[in-house]
Amino acid sequence: MYTLGIDIGSTASKAVLLLDKNTIVSSAVVNVGIGSSGPERVVQEVLKEGKLNKSDLFKIVVTGYGRVMYKQANKQISELSCHAKGANFLAPFAKTVIDIGGQDVKILKIDKNGRLLNFIMNDKCAAGTGRFLDVMANVLEIKVSDIGELSIKSKHDVNISNTCTVFAESEVISHLAAGIEKEDICAGICKSIAKKVSGLAKRIGIENELVMTGGVANNKAVVRELENELGVKITIPEIPQLAGALGAAIFACK
Ligand code: ADP
Repeated sequence: MYTLGIDIGSTASKAVLLLDKNTIVSSAVVNVGIGSSGPERVVQEVLKEGKLNKSDLFKIVVTGYGRVMYKQANKQISELSCHAKGANFLAPFAKTVIDIGGQDVKILKIDKNGRLLNFIMNDKCAAGTGRFLDVMANVLEIKVSDIGELSIKSKHDVNISNTCTVFAESEVISHLAAGIEKEDICAGICKSIAKKVSGLAKRIGIENELVMTGGVANNKAVVRELENELGVKITIPEIPQLAGALGAAIFACK
């Protein structure tokens, strides 16, 4: 029985094709989200890779910020439930999940079956999210995926004192104008995200095992800084950005 889970985010569209609730047949990420061609393209990609057609699917479940706009699914399920389920599949011992996506930060407490027990989310502000990284990558003229790698090389990170993305962007421009190395600016950016997210995490309380999902989990420097701030080890699953789509594909088995 093949099921398809789709996660239409603010920034990226993700899909996972699952066989019998336990085998990932194919998965894909397209770096455009709600209101774009991303959802359709990501579905075509996973079906092509899995050598299947839509008619071979038992059910399709859609989640994410853009789920309401996607009419071809059998069901829409909230991203909180899908992220909890997907994180539990990827890391069965997880009790806390930090998910940092393009526009929000979610911290979930889950049980051993991947059921959501409690959660906290950021306010409507880009600080601490992938959007903050995307804006800074643009100013620095680098790829967002390079921010983490560059940060790791830094020996003297600079302080980014503004949490507001617009003011922090000006701060980064001033640092560039002052001739500060990009790697030191990147390290300051990652620290700023970690500080913001750890503040939120401390409000709900962290229980081990702590797992991180979402696109920003691919940034090793943010993960390392978060570990420093929280004083705990963070597990990064192999496909962190796909947790929501995976959870949706698991729900589609029912
Ligand atoms: P959403 O569901 O809101 O679209 P995602 O969980 O897909 O969000 O994460 C998107 C964010 O992840 C982007 O804003 C980007 O900053 C970050 N991101 C994506 N890929 C990488 C990568 N390889 N390295 C670092 N950050 C990444």
